[in-house]
Amino acid sequence: MKVGESAYPTSAWHVRDDGRIQCDVCPRACALNEGQRGLCFVRQRQGEQIVLTTYGRSSGFCVDPIEKKPLNHFVPGSSVLSFGTAGCNLTCRFCQNWDISKSREIDTLADAASPERIAATAADLGCRSVAFTYNDPTIFYEYARDTAVACRAAGVRSVAVTAGYMLAQPRADLYAHVDAANVDLKAFNDDFYRRVCSARLAPVLETIEYLVRETPVWVELTTLVIPGLNDSDAELDAMTQWVLERLGPDVPLHFTAFHPDYKMRDRPPTPPQTLTRARGIALRNGVHYAYTGNVHDRGGGSTTCPGCAVTVIERDWYTLGAYRLSDDGHCTSCGTAIAGVFDGPAQSWGARRMPVQLAQR
Ligand code: SF4
Repeated sequence: MKVGESAYPTSAWHVRDDGRIQCDVCPRACALNEGQRGLCFVRQRQGEQIVLTTYGRSSGFCVDPIEKKPLNHFVPGSSVLSFGTAGCNLTCRFCQNWDISKSREIDTLADAASPERIAATAADLGCRSVAFTYNDPTIFYEYARDTAVACRAAGVRSVAVTAGYMLAQPRADLYAHVDAANVDLKAFNDDFYRRVCSARLAPVLETIEYLVRETPVWVELTTLVIPGLNDSDAELDAMTQWVLERLGPDVPLHFTAFHPDYKMRDRPPTPPQTLTRARGIALRNGVHYAYTGNVHDRGGGSTTCPGCAVTVIERDWYTLGAYRLSDDGHCTSCGTAIAGVFDGPAQSWGARRMPVQLAQR
């Protein structure tokens, strides 16, 4: 074990007939010999168990706007204490956080913090929630779960930003304590998931349906739209029809702009009109709330009341403008309830990003 690592005992694994220990956290089902690490790098076989080597270690903390997760219907305008660890269980060639997700240097986990410390810091800073983000909480789910528990005890909500590539038992264990999730729906074809992310589409759809239909977790979905890979009318139409049929009209969709990064530098940035086209397809199919993201687009970033078509939350990127909702999320023009978690008047954190060092607090 390297300096800075922890060795938190985990329980989501079983011993196979061939003597290897198989991790049961995600569909990759890594089967490990002594000392081996899974594809995510942070779960390792040590003796007769698999341990989590990043429990209590973070790549950094930062206070962000909740709209950056992105969550547009979850305590709008509030600040969220965000953190991640290292590693990932997907291998997306377009990863926009690859310095963290592909990190093999646990020593880069500069900040240490217990779940209770994180929750108390969020409360001290006036953050309404804590987000597990930057890399996928699936792979450090015991740390995320314990932090979510500590947050609830401190009156702070918690948010998971995830690809949703997770098996049923640990998924239930984590999301029993989490209040909101933004799940990536990276494409609506299995070939994309296999070729670009070394994953499969079906388990992701299963997670999304589970969260929306079987838990009280507030869910929004994000698709990073990549020119030529997942941006056809047919695919966007199929995706948004699936959302409507399986999840209903009230799950917000975010179509966000890709920029060339990591192993995918041969594609151009997403033209803003592609995001507008995707949003239009979703709205035509009956989705109530569809947004463009990572661009300045006041129309595409704002929330419209499905009852009377008034703009109820105006947004320009992460900054709120006019706000026409009651404290409990009803349109002040027609009284329609807007889907989401609304808790008092709109907050005004704005677009600020404020790094925080917990070790020094
Ligand atoms: S969580 Fe990590 S170790 Fe476990 S199956 Fe997934 S990639 Fe493998």
